[in-house]
Amino acid sequence: MFISRSMQEQLAGNSTIRRMFMAGKELAEKYGAENVYDFSIGNPNVPAPDAVNESIRAALSEEDPVYLHGYMANEGFPETRRAVAASLNRRYGTSYDESNVIMTVGAAAGLNIILKTLIDPEDEVITFKPYFMEYRKYVQNYGGRLRPVATDEATFLPDMKAFSEAINEHTKAVIINTPHNPTGVVYGEETLRELAAVLRSAEERYDSHIVLISDEPYRELCYDGTSQPWVASFYEDTIVCYSFSKSLSLPGERIGYCLVPESLYMHAEVFSGMTTATRILGMVNAPALMQKAIERCIDTDITDNVRLYDRNRQLLYGILKSAGFSAAYPQGAFYIWITTPEGYTDEEFGEICQKHNVLIVPGASFEGAGHMRAAYCVSERTIINSEAAWRAIAAECGL
Ligand code: PLP
Repeated sequence: MFISRSMQEQLAGNSTIRRMFMAGKELAEKYGAENVYDFSIGNPNVPAPDAVNESIRAALSEEDPVYLHGYMANEGFPETRRAVAASLNRRYGTSYDESNVIMTVGAAAGLNIILKTLIDPEDEVITFKPYFMEYRKYVQNYGGRLRPVATDEATFLPDMKAFSEAINEHTKAVIINTPHNPTGVVYGEETLRELAAVLRSAEERYDSHIVLISDEPYRELCYDGTSQPWVASFYEDTIVCYSFSKSLSLPGERIGYCLVPESLYMHAEVFSGMTTATRILGMVNAPALMQKAIERCIDTDITDNVRLYDRNRQLLYGILKSAGFSAAYPQGAFYIWITTPEGYTDEEFGEICQKHNVLIVPGASFEGAGHMRAAYCVSERTIINSEAAWRAIAAECGL
């Protein structure tokens, strides 16, 4: 075969979200963009804060161009990594420095360099259902096996008993994502303490080290006065994976970082493994100009952006509830996890939605059948204009 077997498998199951995104574009051409309500993809609609563009311009005028555009250490510019560490220290009272930070090509790359460093083919990685579907692919990239574990049906928080039972001698890592895509759940202190206790007792039971990978691209997007506790302070063997894609609306710029704390077992070796992984996976280093921009605007206040998402959250949730849908009230990120009306499969419900020019993603894409995900990082106008369509969909589903 010309195309590899593994790629043929990928192509056969290509991303539903991307497909919906393309369907949205086609519908927009046919009916006009203002008549299509595309809630399919988590692409921030709020522009990057002015501070980002100002920082890019400042980097271009202030930095030596040879240094700015040149090759660098795979882990990134030392001053950028220092700026990231200092910002975390200010916010969380930690004492990190550049030796704890690796700049990455977004969270996607961060997850891949962590897994490349840790996973052998017999290893398992646990995550909680529903989950960001790329986790499965990323774990498979290194021959590992993803083991999804149930969450509580009402709260979508990890079922600690099921979690404890799923851990075995092959468990190498656990991926959590908080604030959560697709449910909008935020793991608070109690949940993180419980997770840590289960992990510590499993480490003792198997005389092993299990790494908690905390995937946090939505870290600052918390509502109702809540905030995301610093996950690495709960469990020693943690690696944090962060991205500026959502907080600074920069998904196309591919910039984020991994935080590898000293408390992690074999910290220095893991750090070296991850920097080597950026090289041998062909990313080499995170984009230089964006590193230099981030260094200058790392502490940008995004309260106004969070407020906009919060308004959208309340607006869309209110419309869905008053139309008769049942959905989890999200505490973070920018997604609403809608329960598929009784008597319909997710696909059937999705088709009805699409008939009314509403695009949402079936729960199967997150191993969360019986639900659909609506991303509310869209314009307020889109949400307001979609109300009649939601009501028509509810009526058609007999709600
Ligand atoms: N992890 C989760 C839970 C996400 O939702 C996303 C993107 O939507 C990513 C990781 C990847 O983010 P990035 O754009 O930084 O690669």
